[in-house]
Amino acid sequence: MDENLETVEIIPSQRGNDKIKVYGYLLVKERVLKNTYYWCCEKRKSDKCKGRAITIFYDGSHYLQKHSKHIHAPQASSGNVAKAIACIKQQALETRDQPMQIIQSNIINVSEETASNLPSQNALRMKIKRIRRTEIPPQPKT
Ligand SMILES: [Zn+2]
Repeated sequence: MDENLETVEIIPSQRGNDKIKVYGYLLVKERVLKNTYYWCCEKRKSDKCKGRAITIFYDGSHYLQKHSKHIHAPQASSGNVAKAIACIKQQALETRDQPMQIIQSNIINVSEETASNLPSQNALRMKIKRIRRTEIPPQPKT
């Protein structure tokens, strides 16, 4: 396997239809032949975009083989929004930081566009509280 090949980012989906992000474009899996994956643009139907990508799956990563042009601008934010929320959830579980602190520290790390697509700070704060209530066992008294 050529180590210079670019790996692509996998965006996990709740419905099991994993997507990949290539140069800011999101593509959905179309078919798989052995370890070769064929992807088509998520806007194939809505925008009649013919953007496609082919990746080789090797050792846990997708390596980009081919990528064709899209007819629209990259859709960077939806993947970034999911990633920012995942980060916030993780920090909610792994740290004892105040919810506002967690939210602020994540918002400064994302682009303005991504930040504008995130749920409101109030909604994020509720999310953090809910995660902590359900997943953190009570502190043992020593
Ligand atoms: Zn496209």
